[in-house]
Amino acid sequence: MEIIAHPREMQEQARRWREEGRRIAFVPTMGYFHQGHLSLMEYAREIGDRLVVSLFVNPTQFGPTEDLDRYPRDLERDTRLAEEVGVDVLFTPAAEQMYPPGYQTYVTVNGLSQGLCGASRPGHFRGVATVVLKLFNLVMPHVAVFGEKDYQQLVVIKRMVSDLNLPVEVVGCPIVREEDGLAMSSRNTYLNPEERWSARCLYRSLQAAQQLVADGKKTREEILSTVQQIISQTPHTRIDYVALVDPETLQEVAAVQGAARLALAVWVGHTRLIDNTLLVET
Ligand code: AMP
Repeated sequence: MEIIAHPREMQEQARRWREEGRRIAFVPTMGYFHQGHLSLMEYAREIGDRLVVSLFVNPTQFGPTEDLDRYPRDLERDTRLAEEVGVDVLFTPAAEQMYPPGYQTYVTVNGLSQGLCGASRPGHFRGVATVVLKLFNLVMPHVAVFGEKDYQQLVVIKRMVSDLNLPVEVVGCPIVREEDGLAMSSRNTYLNPEERWSARCLYRSLQAAQQLVADGKKTREEILSTVQQIISQTPHTRIDYVALVDPETLQEVAAVQGAARLALAVWVGHTRLIDNTLLVET
């Protein structure tokens, strides 16, 4: 595995591979790998013949009071894990190279970026869309793999790719969970043991919603009130949002008709966790 830190060098490698007719698969990450990241890499390795993983804690997607400075990092361990999965290039640019002095270009995906996480994290998806477009221009992937864990992000990126005619196929992969159902996240390391115990309520509430739909209770009121009740009864939690939305437009829906996404963000102590699931009418 090669580690490339310089954007220009990454682009040159990508160009060489393209000239050789290689199919480049790409997984963008912020590092501190867990099984969720590794599952994306394993999938991407199967659908391309060169695999690039970027590791970049992107400052433009963090708000001024968010956790940019304390975001967990372990380059040594990440390097070992990426190598074990069969990554060809680990791309680790520095913030100064991605955003040199004078930088002033941003991508905004209107509408889709506004609700859900966008409402409580203004500017977040502008930072995400901008860095992903920059990374696409450097890595020149044929296919890019994202997790459904960050469901709104996946929808925003698909919209950007379609709207800007980018020659990249975007693929979503299922959420990987801990044994007790908590969605894996680098931010789970912030939780103390009591908070970690409380954090199980996110998935428990999603499961309860799935059961409601299976029992024919499909209205937004029934689903949201059950989810809110389960979470608010759990110590150390504070709901940021719970929403039932159309899986493509992310607009709120009145009931599960066909399919809907149930998405939530919950503060557990000082840590904001997100999760979501697809609810399907049976
Ligand atoms: P991050 O490093 O948190 O920015 O995540 C990098 C990529 O991994 C994104 O596409 C995430 O959606 C994906 N990801 C993070 N956690 C999980 C998980 N538990 N299951 C599946 N994909 C995940």
